[in-house]
Amino acid sequence: MENSNWIAQADSLQYSTGAFINGELTEAKSGATFPCVNPANGKLLGNVARCDQADVDLAVRVARRVFDSGVWSALAPTQRKAALQKYAALIEKNTEKLAMLETIDAGKPIADTLGYDAPATARCIAWNAEAIDKLYDEVAPVSQDSLALVTREPLGVVAAIVPWNFPAVMMSWKLGPALAAGNSVIVKPSEKSPLSAIFLAELAHESGIPAGVFQVLPGFGHEAGQALALHQDVDCITFTGSTAVGKKLLTFAGESNMKRAFMECGGKSPHIIFSDVKDIDKAVNTAAAAICYNQGEVCTAGSRLLVQRDIYEQVIEKLLVAIKTWQPGNPLEPSTNVGAIIDQQQLDRILDYINIGQAEGATLLCGGQQVLTETGGLYVEPCVFTDVTPGMRIFKEEIFGSVLAVTVFDTLEEAITLANDSEYGLAAGVWTRDISTAVRCSRALRAGTVFVNNWDGGDMTMPFGGYKQSGNGRDKSLHAIEKYTEMKSTWIELD
Ligand code: NAD
Repeated sequence: MENSNWIAQADSLQYSTGAFINGELTEAKSGATFPCVNPANGKLLGNVARCDQADVDLAVRVARRVFDSGVWSALAPTQRKAALQKYAALIEKNTEKLAMLETIDAGKPIADTLGYDAPATARCIAWNAEAIDKLYDEVAPVSQDSLALVTREPLGVVAAIVPWNFPAVMMSWKLGPALAAGNSVIVKPSEKSPLSAIFLAELAHESGIPAGVFQVLPGFGHEAGQALALHQDVDCITFTGSTAVGKKLLTFAGESNMKRAFMECGGKSPHIIFSDVKDIDKAVNTAAAAICYNQGEVCTAGSRLLVQRDIYEQVIEKLLVAIKTWQPGNPLEPSTNVGAIIDQQQLDRILDYINIGQAEGATLLCGGQQVLTETGGLYVEPCVFTDVTPGMRIFKEEIFGSVLAVTVFDTLEEAITLANDSEYGLAAGVWTRDISTAVRCSRALRAGTVFVNNWDGGDMTMPFGGYKQSGNGRDKSLHAIEKYTEMKSTWIELD
């Protein structure tokens, strides 16, 4: 990879900017567009179709017709499996283009999009394809005079509204299981990162997935997104994004047709280091990565570091060194580990919180400056705050940037109380060499995922989602496929 000149290749990259409806690239019905900008240099990447109610109505009509026709929904699972495997293979073949699109559109380092985002997208589709012909329905244990079946059927039309921090991966976590289960899927990518979704729809079409089974409507949340969430003929809204928008979508589902509504939302995840940690360097380096990876724009960012008092000074000393290895740079350079912030609004939000932290009395230990302004791009140095107390906003609120809040604790009980003192419950981490501490702590932590002696471990086999206001659904694993099906009970009386 070191030998590839991604900057030159990205300059000549060809990509589409239309909506993808009924197997075709198309403009929005209104002809409206919105600008798509590269956050690494401020340059216009293209004007993208700005879909609204009219496009949503059309795409939903197509999705329903295709669903009812059975061209996808009624295929044998082995047939859907084969089609999705072909699709996954085509994504894999296009790894470099997909990675470059994610990098220029969302500011993510090319090393990450090549090493994670693009292959993880293909893997997710392939995993769900592999799973779908291995799921059995149930026969209930009833008397010999009856046969009682519990079967799973696809929901129908699934609308997926997704964020910009991992545009393709977050989409694939919805698309993979929903398509495998036989649904028609409409994706509304974030207006901040629409390009990979459009490209993935083109690849699905090229791989032979029937027209109308997977459509993409680029556009804004309050337009295309809201129209999908309120639509009377959408059976399920599946969302990844902020808690504020997730709450709105639950309301929209209730106000319209009680569509199934699955929300994957924000986090303020605690990362606890106990003084008996086996490898303090590993723990500290991981804590730095947990807040710096993807510019801190990660729902599971380890944004609250809780450190036991005896090792506090040592951890801070090592943390200062570790954080400095994460420095912003051109996302298309293979050596860059911190890319660009998605847009001006997000950059202002991060800088505002850095000011708030200082005003609240926390100590800014390092970083926190906007840098590389001469590039025309948006970059902030990762930063660390110490002396953070539970009342402070930087302890409580999701920033979605590399702003680490460090708090000291004495006992296991205190660590758990601090960790659970949050409206969120997405992830948590524990570093200890004591199995009882690890198990007691992970049981007590109110979080959908607990990492013991690691951060961000996991693969497609494990469910991913939140407790509390981090959400109500689970992506990944067989549990995700379950979300995209209805359960039917059939009672047959025998003569
Ligand atoms: P966001 O909520 O602003 O936007 C997410 C999507 O919702 C976008 O496509 C947006 O256009 C759409 N949207 C906005 N308003 C809408 C409305 N009124 N009706 C319908 N759709 C609307 O979130 P974001 O800024 O794109 O992403 C960051 C957030 O996503 C963070 O809070 C992060 O924690 C969360 N996230 C969660 C997970 C998870 O799995 N739990 C994963 C990644 C990101």
